[in-house]
Amino acid sequence: MKKCCICGNEIVGIGNNPYPVKNEGECCDICNLQKVIPERIMLMKHKAMEETVKQIAKQITDKITKEIIDANNTKGIVGVNEVLDKYQIVL
Ligand SMILES: [Zn+2]
Repeated sequence: MKKCCICGNEIVGIGNNPYPVKNEGECCDICNLQKVIPERIMLMKHKAMEETVKQIAKQITDKITKEIIDANNTKGIVGVNEVLDKYQIVL
C-alpha cells in the first residue's frame, strides 16, 4: 500500500507527481487536484509575471539609455544630468 506524501492517506490506483508541493514521493488524486495542480498554475503565473516585469524593466532601461545618449550628443554632460534628474537617478 502506497501512502500519499501530502495527506498520508492510502493511494488508490496510480499515484501522482507531487511537485511542487513535495519533491519526493507520490500523492493521491485528491491532493493532486486540490493542492498540486493549483500550485503548478500559481508557479506558471508567477514565472509569466516575472518575465513581464523583466521585459518592462528592460524597455525602461533601454528608453533611458537612449535618452542619455541623445542628451549627451546634443547637450553634453548638462543634458545627461537633466535626464538623470528627470528620472531621479542618483549615481
Ligand atoms: Zn493526499
